Amino acid sequence: MANIGNGDKPDYSIRVKELLPGFNCGICGYARCDEFASALLKKWTQLEKCRFLMQEIFEENREELEGILRHEKIIPEEEKFVGLLDGYQADLILKPLPGEESCREVLYPFTNTELNKGDIIKYRPLGCPIIHFARILSEDNGLITVHIVGPCHRLDEEAEFEYLDIGLCMVGGFEGVVQGKIPDVGETVRFLPGHCMMQKVHSGVVVQVEGRKIILEGIDLKVWAPPIKG
Ligand code: SF4
Repeated sequence: MANIGNGDKPDYSIRVKELLPGFNCGICGYARCDEFASALLKKWTQLEKCRFLMQEIFEENREELEGILRHEKIIPEEEKFVGLLDGYQADLILKPLPGEESCREVLYPFTNTELNKGDIIKYRPLGCPIIHFARILSEDNGLITVHIVGPCHRLDEEAEFEYLDIGLCMVGGFEGVVQGKIPDVGETVRFLPGHCMMQKVHSGVVVQVEGRKIILEGIDLKVWAPPIKG
């Protein structure tokens, strides 16, 4: 698989370049795929920054790349995700879609206030003690899809911003990129949303998988599992 350099240590740089999509689009922050390959091997970036690698068509390439990065100890051999608050072990971490600030949440608001794309909302997810601030990405038949943008800086009284306080919301779904093992459609998983202020393990049912991108619904904060910590 790898070229052997002057010493005994395998040189994976050429293979890593070969496995990248080769579009040289610059979306990952590097002008060309070969620059991204070098940055990967120096731990300056992560595979998730190339959005094409998250697509099903590049799944085999991504798996081989992950194997190389694990072998080179650039990513951990076996990842264990444990919620800080509850000590439960999660199956995966849900990271943002490429270029986005948090994974997406789908909310059922209990308000008659008119909500529009671009609005910032303040709300508390049902079952969670933390006040959230989020930006609305879309509205569809009463359901809103949001990015989380707070709370810390949003609670600063000096900060200049406007928001709509819509009270309680039920969280219906999440969409993001899997860090960890990709689950199957229909599987119930325990997951940590990467942006979760409490780092509390959630549960949900996988309703769509496309490469590393997944959609989870039936979200619950009640997770029935023994804690890892004593
Ligand atoms: S985003 Fe992917 S395809 Fe585009 S330059 Fe970066 S590595 Fe290459």
